[in-house]
Amino acid sequence: MTRTLVLGGTFDPVHAGHINSACALIDLFSPCRMVLIPGRIPPHRGTPSASPEQRLKMLELATAEIPGLQCDPCELDREGPSYTFDTLRQYRDKLGRASLIFVMGSDAWVTLPAWHNWRQLCDLAHLVVMKRPGSDGLQVPEALGRWSEGKLTDSHERLADHPGGLVCHVTLPQYDVSATVVRRAIVEGDSTETLLHPDVAGYIARHQLYLDNDNHGK
Ligand code: ATP
Repeated sequence: MTRTLVLGGTFDPVHAGHINSACALIDLFSPCRMVLIPGRIPPHRGTPSASPEQRLKMLELATAEIPGLQCDPCELDREGPSYTFDTLRQYRDKLGRASLIFVMGSDAWVTLPAWHNWRQLCDLAHLVVMKRPGSDGLQVPEALGRWSEGKLTDSHERLADHPGGLVCHVTLPQYDVSATVVRRAIVEGDSTETLLHPDVAGYIARHQLYLDNDNHGK
């Protein structure tokens, strides 16, 4: 059974950190497919600068030529806040007992106790936490540490062999880039060549995105 990895995010815009990390995960968990899912209404942050349709379009451009990498607009079709719990439930219903892995950066991991139904996420999927540059000093909430203790594994095989329930921390090649840095670079007229797929950079320029962006510092 093919395993499915899901990376949710705002993708405002999708950048090299997302795509390179996704490719490294595809190599690590092969054979697998990896799905990038943009949120329509992110529950824990301000309104994104680009519209949901623009963020989806940029994801399509960035993933078009990468085997195994797809994007899914499922959260854009749903009313209300884009809860990961609802998305994973939808995937679980489709996948039966195949392995489902939800991926997040270590900055997102420490916010987990604020997520809707966070304790139930492992009933639906495994969680893979990617170390993110600059995240070393982040405090792991006590409740999260306690909850994850019995679920931790280093074994990728165990993730492949079970539908969900485990937590695995991975260190991939590090890409010190964030959407905040990209938006700030655009406002300041700095080069984004190493940060963005050329087609995404072209789309942003054509649609004049992020130019008068007062959200670039989040
Ligand atoms: P922003 O700067 O606007 O907060 P972001 O760069 O964190 O955005 P998101 O779309 O919010 O991008 O991220 C989606 C997911 O990808 C999150 O789980 C985040 O931790 C992870 N992620 C983003 N950038 C990286 C990176 N450079 N390395 C590893 N994980 C990343």
